[in-house]
Amino acid sequence: MSEESGYPLPAPAPEGLNAEWYEFVAGGELRFQRCDDCGKWRHPPRVLCAACGSDHWTWTASTGKGAIYSWTVTHRPLHPMFAEVVPYAVVVVEMEEGVRIICSVREIANEDLSLDLPVSIGIAPVSDTVGLPYALPA
Ligand SMILES: [Zn+2]
Repeated sequence: MSEESGYPLPAPAPEGLNAEWYEFVAGGELRFQRCDDCGKWRHPPRVLCAACGSDHWTWTASTGKGAIYSWTVTHRPLHPMFAEVVPYAVVVVEMEEGVRIICSVREIANEDLSLDLPVSIGIAPVSDTVGLPYALPA
């Protein structure tokens, strides 16, 4: 549980560039790194562009829209804190920018998940420095 917000599940404790990303999300913004030299988007955060090797980049706002790329449904809680939320889905969303994020799902039943299902991304605040994205129906 997050000490700061009462968030009921284990929350990430990110460092470095990952912490910067989670901080934008905590502030209600979904941003990804975009290379200043070739324009390629990337996620998860890293120092160098995999396309051109540049270390010049900018945190750039996402449209917040994408589609389900893959998912899994967990039926057995592997931690007691998840006992109340099973079965739950974790999805990989391919964003319009081409990057993929892993997140939870709201307002879509597990049995209604499908490949390429359009979704938008909502944000659940966890603390002042961590927010968690989740997929919603588009
Ligand atoms: Zn580049």
